[in-house]
Amino acid sequence: MKIAVLKETAAGETRVSASPETVKKFIALGAAVAVETDAGATASIADAAYADAGATVGPRGATLADADILLGVQGPTPDSLKGVKPGAWLVAGLNPFGERARVDAYAALGVDALAMEFMPRITRAQSMDILSSQSNLAGYKAVIDAAGVYGRAFPMMMTAAGTISAARVFVMGVGVAGLQAIATARRLGAQVSATDVRSATKEQIESLGAKAIFVEAVKGIEGEGSGGYATEMSDEYKAAQAELVSSHIAKQDIVITTALIPGRAAPRLISDAQIASMRPGSVIVDLAVEQGGNVEGAVAGEIVEKHGVRIVGHRNVPGRLAADASALFARNLYNFLSAFWDKEQGRPVLPDDDEITQAIRLTQGGKVVNTRLLG
Ligand code: NAD
Repeated sequence: MKIAVLKETAAGETRVSASPETVKKFIALGAAVAVETDAGATASIADAAYADAGATVGPRGATLADADILLGVQGPTPDSLKGVKPGAWLVAGLNPFGERARVDAYAALGVDALAMEFMPRITRAQSMDILSSQSNLAGYKAVIDAAGVYGRAFPMMMTAAGTISAARVFVMGVGVAGLQAIATARRLGAQVSATDVRSATKEQIESLGAKAIFVEAVKGIEGEGSGGYATEMSDEYKAAQAELVSSHIAKQDIVITTALIPGRAAPRLISDAQIASMRPGSVIVDLAVEQGGNVEGAVAGEIVEKHGVRIVGHRNVPGRLAADASALFARNLYNFLSAFWDKEQGRPVLPDDDEITQAIRLTQGGKVVNTRLLG
């Protein structure tokens, strides 16, 4: 049983899907591991570290040859998989909605594609969830990025020369990234407030010592759909939210937006008029910029200035912490494959009736089989 670790080829991708630690663990399970040359270079992992862990290191052709399982952070281009063994598994973040044509191409190659971002939100799968591990780091880095471009300090400082007041940080969208953004901003000494459409987050915000800003006037809203994800809100709710946000946002120095709705464009939370109401020198970080953006005028991959406010739209924020992001991503993949490891067969086996199999399997036997893609 051979596991191949591919070097990422997508622009700006710095992460790698295996670490020396997970290579060792796969070998302990009885697998052979082949790592593509320089796969870990941008995550500060040298080829020699993989070799020391027991992997062979070589070019793409040798890495792919006879591999049973291919590991990636993002999906490789189908062209780069020529020569792959039919029936091989491809385990990676495959962006199935955004890269739909690729999914068809994987099926045509005979590859069984497993999309790690479709992992169900169940307790058993928590340690396999790439969205959680990467969002947590993104939430932290968003605050650090904001602090980097903000021309003022975060904590209150009382000095002989006078007092500096604490930065006011507002976090919109309190999922995994938002909770970590709140905790990080608090650690830096900011005065933090936060909002979400899911009422369950109110208690979580307050338990982190931040102020919860919630639409109370509109009755009958819950905002929580399946799997703990948000749902699209009513027009009445959206209007009430916009009004509440308008009055609050004008007093904020830093806004971090993280709001996502699965399978849809990110909800628009901040308008140009609201940006204009903020104090010059304020900073907005839009973590949803690659999914369409929460902030009007945010540009993926750029820091733009509007009305004296800087809007930060970095792509692939977890990739800005490549070493830690890779270590956690690699463990997610290992936790998944080892949980299904069949000792007798010496490889993982995915039962057809398992909830995890059904959620993440995109292609099998040359066909697209995932109901979310076929539906
Ligand atoms: P997400 O990335 O899908 O969205 C980020 C946040 O934006 C969510 O909290 C969402 O409610 C919020 N949001 C959406 N529309 C909004 C709007 N219009 N205004 C304000 N906020 C809006 O969410 P996530 O980080 O994946 O977390 C969602 C939930 O799932 C959390 O409760 C999390 O703890 C839970 N979760 C569970 C597991 C598990 O059990 N395996 C794994 C990961 C996350």
